Amino acid sequence: MAPGFSRELELQRLRALYGLLSSLQRAKSLEEVYESAMTSLLASTAADRAAVLTFDEDGVMRFQAWRGLSDEYRAAVTGHTPWPQGTVGAETLAIADSSGDASLAPYHALLAREKIGSLAFVPLELDQGVFGKFMLYQRDPHQWAKEELEAAELIGGHVALVLQRQRADLARESSEQHLQRLAAVVENSYDAIVTKDLRGVITSWNRAAEELLGYTAAEAIGKPIAFLAPEDRANEMQAILERVGRGERVHHFETQRKTKAGRIIDVSLSVSPIRDRSGRIVGASKIMRDITERKRAEEERRLLLQREQDARATAELLNQVGLTLLTEHDVDWLVRGITDIATALVGAEFGVFFHNRVEEKGESRRPYALSGRSRGTFSGSGIPNNTEIFEPAFRSEGVLRSDDLTKDPRYGHNPPDFGIPADHPPVRSYLAAPVISRSREILGGLVFGHSEAGKFSEHHEVLLRGIAAQAAIAIDNAKLLEQAEWAQGELKRSNQELRRTNEDLEVFAYSASHDLQEPLRTIILSSELLQRACGDRLTEDGTRYLEGIVHGSRTMNQLIADLLAYTTATRSEEGPPPVTDSAAVLGEVLQNLKSSMESCEAVVTVAELPPVSMHPVRLAQIFQNLIGNALKYRGQDPPRIHVSAREEDGWTVFSVQDNGIGIETEYASQIFGLFKRLHSRHQYPGSGLGLAICQRLVEHYGGRIWLDQSALGAGSTFCFSVPLQRA
Ligand code: ADP
Repeated sequence: MAPGFSRELELQRLRALYGLLSSLQRAKSLEEVYESAMTSLLASTAADRAAVLTFDEDGVMRFQAWRGLSDEYRAAVTGHTPWPQGTVGAETLAIADSSGDASLAPYHALLAREKIGSLAFVPLELDQGVFGKFMLYQRDPHQWAKEELEAAELIGGHVALVLQRQRADLARESSEQHLQRLAAVVENSYDAIVTKDLRGVITSWNRAAEELLGYTAAEAIGKPIAFLAPEDRANEMQAILERVGRGERVHHFETQRKTKAGRIIDVSLSVSPIRDRSGRIVGASKIMRDITERKRAEEERRLLLQREQDARATAELLNQVGLTLLTEHDVDWLVRGITDIATALVGAEFGVFFHNRVEEKGESRRPYALSGRSRGTFSGSGIPNNTEIFEPAFRSEGVLRSDDLTKDPRYGHNPPDFGIPADHPPVRSYLAAPVISRSREILGGLVFGHSEAGKFSEHHEVLLRGIAAQAAIAIDNAKLLEQAEWAQGELKRSNQELRRTNEDLEVFAYSASHDLQEPLRTIILSSELLQRACGDRLTEDGTRYLEGIVHGSRTMNQLIADLLAYTTATRSEEGPPPVTDSAAVLGEVLQNLKSSMESCEAVVTVAELPPVSMHPVRLAQIFQNLIGNALKYRGQDPPRIHVSAREEDGWTVFSVQDNGIGIETEYASQIFGLFKRLHSRHQYPGSGLGLAICQRLVEHYGGRIWLDQSALGAGSTFCFSVPLQRA
């Protein structure tokens, strides 16, 4: 037996092994395990230094514990291993003389510096193969004994077992911590997390689930999950469980759940299968997120969009209303157009406009415009047979709305069928408004219906109110227009009649005065002959009577002449008025009146007169009358007459001023009337037609004549205007 294998040595090894076993039992950390292992190795072998190395997670062999090794050495040999990690059945490698070993050639210098003459590699191996090694070092070359190496392997075996147990403990501990962390995550999640078995029985229930659904974990766990579903979704849960049972996952499934308080909430569900260790599906985990807010926002957005679209459609229809109202003046067409558009605007199935009109017999009948349904819809006469139903629309001042006529106590006495045949659905939604004129007269009523309940909203009421008001204005206007057109026609007709009567009268006056002249001339001539032949034989009375006849006849002759002048004043048309030199015309007139003027020492002064667009004969007639009157109605002083003209607002205004007896202003307009005179024929001869003739002539040219200034005893100024002659 080689030295070192004595009984004593054997005993020492056994003692070291027991020491190792008991210290391994007590070891609380890996470090303690490694220390015990090295103590036993040094005690059980001839080694003077030892080390423990294991593969790290990155697969590199690293020192875990050592005795008597320099930093340099350790750094240089880290990573060296005779066996790759996981080698199964690795064998101890003992090198008696390190300097002579070829496999260690790269380390010869290092080993010499570290004073290592021999060394041994003892594998640490478990089920998964090599995971580390023990190193034994000797200063001198040393033949490692079989017992020494077996002792080291035995220590390695124990240490490996202890390490395995320790690792398992560590792993278990860390997985327990992991589970706790997971549980904390679940518990603190903002999403409701619920698990259930494959029958649907709830197995866990986190705090968010309590908050979302109102049930505590104690209330929920053990109950079938179906109690959370609203009635109409009872089957949905079973379907989800079946899918999960087949191993499917359900992602973001949007549905509704009922809370403990009975409130229905919108939720999004993600459901995944739960498997046991063998991979069998045993239940489902469910993450439930409250999406009520999101749904509300989506709904709000949808409503806003809808409202915008509605508003756009409404604006278009309102535009049409405006156009119809503006362009349509026929009341019937107007009413029809309004009914059509209003029916579309309020979304009714049908709309009716009942038009209040009193018929000739005094009976009130209500013709109507119908939109949305054919007239045949209404039975019998084609008119809704019970218009009593529409009475409210004619009595009320405002809009009437009912969500469901069949349930509305206000209309309890009226059948809701509106005379519509039984096979048609009844009217349920009802909307009506009176159309009231500016004078508060009820022109008619707009009535709308729909077979579904709740079709008309407040918004429709507002629309209808607007349309009814506009319709009232349009109907009023159309009626006014009708009346205006009628009045215009009437005026035209009476004008024609008047013109005809005037013409008849003129013809009559002309022929009468013309025919009167003939016998009158005979009377005048005969009385003059009588006077000449028998004048000296007549008594004084006889002479006076004869003079009366002559005078009367002459007056009558003058009257007839004036009447003829009047009726013919504007008669024969001489074509359009020529440009006339008014000064020349006046000159001729003054020439005619020369002897009258001289007999009363009259003086006529004339200012500058413009040319005018008038027939010279007529202008002469006017001057003749006005200057003749100025001479005739002279006062004490010899007549002073001044004729002038001025331009005023596009007219030429002539004025004839005298210093005669004057006229009281209250008679200023009367004197232009036919046969109107302010004096008797004894005072001043005349027929009272002169100014009437002047007026007729001036008006013929579009002008007028008036007494401009006058006072009794202070003279008179007559003016007349004719359109300005443009150069
Ligand atoms: P006539 O001179 O034939 O009576 P006119 O129609 O010419 O009829 O005149 C109507 C009346 O107006 C006269 O009767 C007279 O009283 C009054 N009148 C007209 N011109 C003058 C005048 N220049 N001055 C005063 N009175 C006048």
